[in-house]
Formats: sequence, structure tokens, C-alpha cells
Amino acid sequence: MPTKVTIAQHILAANEAIAQELRQDLGARGLATINVMSAPGAGKTTLLEQTIRRLRGQLAIAVIEGDIETSNDAERIEAAGAQTVQINTRGACHLEAHMIRSALEQLDVGQTDLLVIENIGNLVCPATWDLGEDLRLVVVSTSEGDDKPAKYPQMFATAQVMVVNKLDLLPYVDYDLAKVKREALAINPRLHIFEVSCRTGAGLDAWCEWLLTFAHSALQEITR
Ligand code: MG
Ligand code: ZN
Repeated sequence: MPTKVTIAQHILAANEAIAQELRQDLGARGLATINVMSAPGAGKTTLLEQTIRRLRGQLAIAVIEGDIETSNDAERIEAAGAQTVQINTRGACHLEAHMIRSALEQLDVGQTDLLVIENIGNLVCPATWDLGEDLRLVVVSTSEGDDKPAKYPQMFATAQVMVVNKLDLLPYVDYDLAKVKREALAINPRLHIFEVSCRTGAGLDAWCEWLLTFAHSALQEITR
């Protein structure tokens, strides 16, 4: 079915062009941008809530919140203290660059340092859609299977950071953390890995410190 492949490539190429424009535009506005991806329920929103609370006063964060339906997560993020715009994809299983471009029109990013995009919970197609971000973060959790890197290699190959969440559940689940890290690093040897529990706060200081350093160096890069 060559026609189908051609169309898919054409759509991805169009997205790529918008993403490149967006990357330049975000850079010109002095915004470092992260694309946060995971399977449903790994804890993207909770990680963002905790990160926003911990970095309050140190890093001004705005969030574009992608969900198929509802604004539940956007309300949580706003309550944590970040300016938030909700995108509802009405069935679509990933965000695309044009959606980010429209959402940006509704954000006042004058005082913002870091733009965080929470993608749709899905480890498959978000990996192939460039949103103009500077950093791709994949969140996995110990309540999922420990074969996620092996099963969804493209997600781990294209991410720069992996956060393993729900460390507090390790004693109660059959989750081989060493295997997850080994298999993720086999796919992407340069992957930065953080182990956290958003519930207990374990590991969050190290993650927030790293993010702060990343955001500052990205901002220096952008404004140079
Ligand atoms: Mg969420
Ligand atoms: Zn999709």
C-alpha cells in the first residue's frame, strides 16, 4: 500500500516544517521547551505538579496540557501555580506542531522561562511528531510492565531524559528496574535517567536541579 505510506510521510513532513518554525519562534521568545511523553497513568501530570511547586520562584513554567478529553489535568497544573492552556484533541492520540502553535497564541509567555508540553498518554506515535521542543522526556512507572523500552524503542531512542516514577511501589510489584535501565540505555546510551517517587518526593530534588540547569543553559543558548 505505497499510497498510504506516501501520505503519512507527507503529513509528517508538513508537521516537521511547522515544528522548525515553532522552534525558531520559541527560541526568539526566550523559551526553552520540553515535550513530556508517557503511557497513560505513568504520572506526567503529577511529576509536573511537583516540579512546578519545587521550582516556584526559580523558574517560571507555563504548560500546554494535551488530553483527548477533559480539562482535569490543566486544572491540577494551574492549581500548582503555572499558567496553563488545555488542548483537547477529541480523539487524536498525539499532539502535532500546529496545535502547539495555536495554543501559544493563548499563553502570555513574556515572563516564562520554560514551556512544558504534556503530550497525550501514548508511547507510540508521539515519538514521531516533532513539536518544536528542545528536550524530550519520557516518563515510565513501576506500575507498568518493565518491558516498555524494549516494546516501544522509538520513544526511548528519541528522548534525552527518562524519569522512572512510583519508586515507592517497587516492594509491591514485579518490576525489574535494573532491566528497564539496561534496556533503555541499550537503545539510547546517552539517556539521562532519574528515579523518583512523586508520592514520597524521593529523587525529585535531583530531577529538579537537573531541569533547572538544563533550562538555564538552554536559555543562554537561545539568547546568545
Ligand atoms: Mg496527564
Ligand atoms: Zn497518534
